Amino acid sequence: MTTFEIDPGRLFIGGQWREAADGARTEVVDPSRGVVVTTVAEAGAADVDAAVRAAREAADAGSWSGLSGRERGRILLRVAELIRAEADEIARLESLDVGKPITLAHAVDVTNAANDYEYFASLAFSLDGAHRDTPMNAHAYTKRGPIGVVAAITPFNFPLILAGSKLAPALAAGNTVVHKPADETPLSALYMAGLLQRAGVPDGVVNVVTGSGPVAGEALLRHPGVDKIAFTGSTAIGRHAASVAGENLKPVTMELGGNAAHLVFEDADLEKAVGAIIKGFVFNTGQFCMGGPRLLVARPVYSTLLNILADAVPGVPVGDPRQVETVVGPMAGEKHLRKVEEYVDIARKEGARIVCGGERLDLDGGYYYKPTVIADLANDSRVVQEEVFGPVLTVQPFDTEDEAVALANSTPYGLAAGVQTGNLARAHRVADRLQAGIVWVNDWAMLDPAVPFGGVKDSGFGREYGPEALHSYTQVKSVVVSLD
Ligand code: NAP
Repeated sequence: MTTFEIDPGRLFIGGQWREAADGARTEVVDPSRGVVVTTVAEAGAADVDAAVRAAREAADAGSWSGLSGRERGRILLRVAELIRAEADEIARLESLDVGKPITLAHAVDVTNAANDYEYFASLAFSLDGAHRDTPMNAHAYTKRGPIGVVAAITPFNFPLILAGSKLAPALAAGNTVVHKPADETPLSALYMAGLLQRAGVPDGVVNVVTGSGPVAGEALLRHPGVDKIAFTGSTAIGRHAASVAGENLKPVTMELGGNAAHLVFEDADLEKAVGAIIKGFVFNTGQFCMGGPRLLVARPVYSTLLNILADAVPGVPVGDPRQVETVVGPMAGEKHLRKVEEYVDIARKEGARIVCGGERLDLDGGYYYKPTVIADLANDSRVVQEEVFGPVLTVQPFDTEDEAVALANSTPYGLAAGVQTGNLARAHRVADRLQAGIVWVNDWAMLDPAVPFGGVKDSGFGREYGPEALHSYTQVKSVVVSLD
């Protein structure tokens, strides 16, 4: 297959497919071969304005917010059913667009997206307020209503899941949405626009504008018709988005970068831990905000664990994402591959030891990088402190629990962390002290829509998943009725 045409591959505004006002289109590249597979419309400010107006009209008309939570929930359950029924096609698109292994696209991306819609559908069934007991001679109660028009801006690495983790709670709560996916990976967002319409989501409730961050994203951020901004992406762009939201007094949730530490204590089951460690840094080719690229190992087991990793990591199947046995595909784009190369070069120049990997894999013109383990680095090394966002693991020893926690908390990020230990008290004690929105004990990347995740420090604020996410797309109104 050398070409792929997404039908219709245009902007989705007010329930209609249309070209960008100026006719601009942008290329979509298959990262496993480095070739253009299709083009999609590239929205400008006029298109974003049309999308926000459509979302505003739908919000004001009440075609969605006017439904009961149960009615909205039923439609969202239909979305989950359709995702499952069309799993093969959606997984193929996601794999083609991002370069992620087809097995992963099926088992993780498609499965989780369906679960997200199902979970938030179930919360829509019971979205309600509360009666408040007061000394006033009054009947006081709260209601939870939608905020209005939500701008959802999502990154390149998990296009389907991260769109679902915003759209599903936003829709469950009765909002309308304008979604701008990453310009590199827009295909599943377009597919989902059609699927949501087929499931019964009324026209104008979900609008998708493909286009660049600086043009379409910026226009969306600044649009006065937007009532809430839900952003997932890098800390640098998130900082900018939050400042624009601040100027315009818009509520925001910010899911930003990560650089998680994975702590291995001497009492851990090393054979079991190694699976979690490898998953933690190669999952999605390391392009995982909640990946675990910083391994901190108790000194008594440091050399043993490094030797195990040196044996195991080169055996991880890297290659064509269309092959079911592939675990690590290409980076999603050439610029991401170059960034990883630059970081590994910096580590080399700093005198670090490349235990394995440390180079591209030359395959079909794709953007492949071998899973890489780096040891003997200082904690202030850039490859330790910054977000590399590739299949690269740094390994550092520690001597005490206090030192492990201090090293883990020493970067500006705080999205996720992990602890490997056989000591229950230590697991809870250390989990408590780690500055992260989610901590895994004795595994990695255990995620479910019922379990909230999100950042502290430079990893952002707000939570995806759980009732916490649903509530972030609502506003509470109190009604106090005098009984005099
Ligand atoms: P990014 O460059 O920050 O882009 C994220 C989104 O923002 C994209 O849709 C991008 O559009 C858009 N954007 C760029 N400039 C903008 C502007 N001036 N105004 C409005 N929107 C703008 O992030 P990325 O490289 O796609 O994704 C990787 C980053 O996301 C990593 O830092 C990763 O840790 C983070 N991430 C965080 C989470 C989480 O849950 N915390 C999850 C996944 C990823 P273009 O693509 O067109 O530039």
